[in-house]
Amino acid sequence: MNSKSVTVIGGGLAGAEAAWQLARQGAAVTLYEMRPKLSTGAHHTALLAELVCSNSLRAADLGNAVGLLKEELRQLDSLIMRAAAATEVPAGGATAVDRTEFAQFVTRAVESHPLITVCRQEITELPKSGTVIVASGPLTSSALAEHLRQALEAPYLAFFDAAAPIVLADSIDMSQAFMASRYGKGEAAYINCPLNEEEYDRFYQALIAAERQQLSDIDTTACFEGCMPIESMADRGRDTPLFGPLKPVGLTDPRTGKRPFAVLQLRQDNRGATMYNLVGFQTRLTWREQKRVFSLIPALRHAEYVRFGVMHRNTFIDSRSVLWPTLQWRKDARVFFAGQVTGVEGYVESAATGLVAGINAYRFAQGMEPLVLPVVTAHGALINYITEHSPSPLQPMNVTFGLFPPLASPPRERRLRNLAYAERAMRELTEFFCKHSPNCLCG
Ligand SMILES: Cc1cc2nc3c(=O)[nH]c(=O)nc-3n(C[C@H](O)[C@H](O)[C@H](O)COP(=O)(O)OP(=O)(O)OC[C@H]3O[C@@H](n4cnc5c(N)ncnc54)[C@H](O)[C@@H]3O)c2cc1C
Repeated sequence: MNSKSVTVIGGGLAGAEAAWQLARQGAAVTLYEMRPKLSTGAHHTALLAELVCSNSLRAADLGNAVGLLKEELRQLDSLIMRAAAATEVPAGGATAVDRTEFAQFVTRAVESHPLITVCRQEITELPKSGTVIVASGPLTSSALAEHLRQALEAPYLAFFDAAAPIVLADSIDMSQAFMASRYGKGEAAYINCPLNEEEYDRFYQALIAAERQQLSDIDTTACFEGCMPIESMADRGRDTPLFGPLKPVGLTDPRTGKRPFAVLQLRQDNRGATMYNLVGFQTRLTWREQKRVFSLIPALRHAEYVRFGVMHRNTFIDSRSVLWPTLQWRKDARVFFAGQVTGVEGYVESAATGLVAGINAYRFAQGMEPLVLPVVTAHGALINYITEHSPSPLQPMNVTFGLFPPLASPPRERRLRNLAYAERAMRELTEFFCKHSPNCLCG
């Protein structure tokens, strides 16, 4: 390892963003990515920033906290947001990307940067010197996870996460489906697969009785609510999926002119629109059972699967006891953590912590004070949540306006209130980075 360059461990959403931020400020970076030599079980390629499940970066609009987080990322010249802009596919009010083009864009940008060296190698221990960013993700290799567990002197926390299947577009029976976005929002971006009550009941009975993958300790460890397998949702009762991934609200079947009893939405997964993913259908059914049970949805009777759903352990550190809000390890300030391993949840949140770790690792390496972002910004609120002192154990979290300090005079209407949070965040972010720039004119 070159002791002069900053070391980044892991070339996922967080590691790629961190490396980019370091390099754009002028630091030399050595990025270690263990794939393709060693895989995680959820990744399928050797590309950096591979999206392991959904191809959605969620809501686009500023009235939603993840929309704001993305806007802040754009303001701070995020590589992940550049890639998203270049590879976007229609998703009716959300940001979704062609997953292969997205990861290729990031890989090209990182590998071709003159200040970044990418080494395809597993790192099993923290380097003993130099500035380091650990961004090894929810599926950190076992050797590194064990080393970190001992070094941090704290147990890893864990829960389970799942990925949804993807089907070939031309295997979907379009005579049993229709194109629309919920409530007519944006373009008609989704393929909607309706079920009548009889079809739904047949599907539901098959789903709860279907064979599931046996994974050790899976039933004793919590699932992340936002990624709950469809069959676990069904276990809660017949109607539960009808308020989740099979909800029909905001959709009218043009064949009947009525709202269907249940609807599964399929989202475009690549630019060529040859693949679609089953939105919200994360699952741990065996692959054979996925094919059998999902074929009870009329439009999927003959569906061909490009990828079946899978379920994986998701590990993260107790950031509340080991990290400063600069994302530095309290015991050894030259070591930074970023991404899902810190207890944030989601692609955008992982990239956001990668961006902050990249900015701060650069400052640390240059002898400057690392930054604590204002808590009124989406970046600041999220990092404050994972690092704040609290008696309750850290639960992985997506960014939400619930994490923000209250507004001085909040509008009563929710959407206006959210936009006020966003307006305050963007104003403070601009002022904050202006103050910390060498050419600040803020006064
Ligand atoms: C099954 C599953 C489904 C998910 N579905 C979604 C979803 O639909 N939407 C969503 O927003 N988020 C989802 N997530 C969460 C998602 O993983 C994160 O949001 C995001 O990928 C985390 O980014 P990251 O950079 O922290 O980790 P990753 O993107 O996983 O990157 C970590 C990288 O580090 C590498 N690595 C690990 N150990 C080592 C080592 N010792 N040495 C060198 N390299 C190493 C890995 O190969 C990997 O490339 C899912 C996670 C899982 C596991």
